[in-house]
Amino acid sequence: MVDLLLKGGEVVDPSQSLRGNLDVAITGGAISQVAPDINAADSARVVDVTGKLVVPGLIDLHCHIYDGVNQTGVRPDLAGVRSGVTTLVDAGSAGCFTFGGFPRYVVPEAKTRILCMLHISRTGLNYQPDLSRREDIDVDETVRVIESNKPLIQGVKLRAVGPAVPTMGIEMVRLAKQAANGGGVRLMVHIGDRMAPVGGPTLTRELLPLLERGDIITHLFSGNPGRILDDAGRVLPELMDAQERGVFLDTAHGRQNFSFDLAKRALDQGVKPQSISTDLTIPGRANTVHSMTEMLSRFLALGFPLEDVIRMATVNPASALGMDGALGSLAVGRAADVTVLEEHTGDWVFHDTEGQTLAGSKALVPVLTVKEGEVFTPDWGPRPWGWLPDTAS
Ligand SMILES: [Zn+2]
Repeated sequence: MVDLLLKGGEVVDPSQSLRGNLDVAITGGAISQVAPDINAADSARVVDVTGKLVVPGLIDLHCHIYDGVNQTGVRPDLAGVRSGVTTLVDAGSAGCFTFGGFPRYVVPEAKTRILCMLHISRTGLNYQPDLSRREDIDVDETVRVIESNKPLIQGVKLRAVGPAVPTMGIEMVRLAKQAANGGGVRLMVHIGDRMAPVGGPTLTRELLPLLERGDIITHLFSGNPGRILDDAGRVLPELMDAQERGVFLDTAHGRQNFSFDLAKRALDQGVKPQSISTDLTIPGRANTVHSMTEMLSRFLALGFPLEDVIRMATVNPASALGMDGALGSLAVGRAADVTVLEEHTGDWVFHDTEGQTLAGSKALVPVLTVKEGEVFTPDWGPRPWGWLPDTAS
């Protein structure tokens, strides 16, 4: 007996190079069959998804969900299963002194799968600036917290920006890398510094050679100082080397770190972003970022084919976490994490964080989320009219 049958949709699963009109059967919280015309009579519950896209549960590799602890932390299920997202990665909201509430209070409250990067600063994002001096970093305690919270903690997060750049310099990157190595996890590095003094130092060129295969650069298309283009508009050779080496390139839009112009120039020069993520916060949900599905629509507007956009929000972020054997796929036997989307055609307009706009004709919105077989309907959406982007008129 099948518990749930998603019937009549168009499956797009880049992990299996699968695209077509296929039904998806779910039994015992796992994918039990993906095939055309599965008999509905054997299913306890049938949901008609005709005309909709059925994709692996979306994974947001960079968001902020330390709800009730960080001032800007979004309620996990609002960013997660109520937004078409089945796995959320909190990108360093907590540091080693403030992490304890995550497993105790946040994770048990959420239906969405949660993973975390641990901020290299002791206090995480609870205090700004998060990192201003050497004493803000406790490598030993960071390693201890990682070791006692695996697999919830999957990496160390460093914001390689702010007032410690001129004082600590590359030392902050070395310490973060030391903590990541000590804990046996990857390092995620934020680049792009809106507050950098004009002509002041940035660390991007210096830090890229320190990253290894599996480490993650986030805010790839930031237009701020520390960006991946030099003053002549050429992609930094250190970035191309890192891409070649297998450093993972995440795009995390956020409220400050996405330039359509820079993205187009970088793409023209062969930069290959691997994941689409939000950097969602409470203010970001209301302004600028809005939702994971709006991020997907922006990449459609940048010219990426639908399969690539879905790949960058499913199997690719799963592989960044070393979990592509478990997440980001509709393969039979996998946990039944499924997102059902609807594609709307219109005159959409997207805004980056530099005041520029990008026109698009396609917008994706969430219509149903399935997390390990459990069904969730999306929230109303981040805008007064719901999930759809702004219109040109
Ligand atoms: Zn962030």
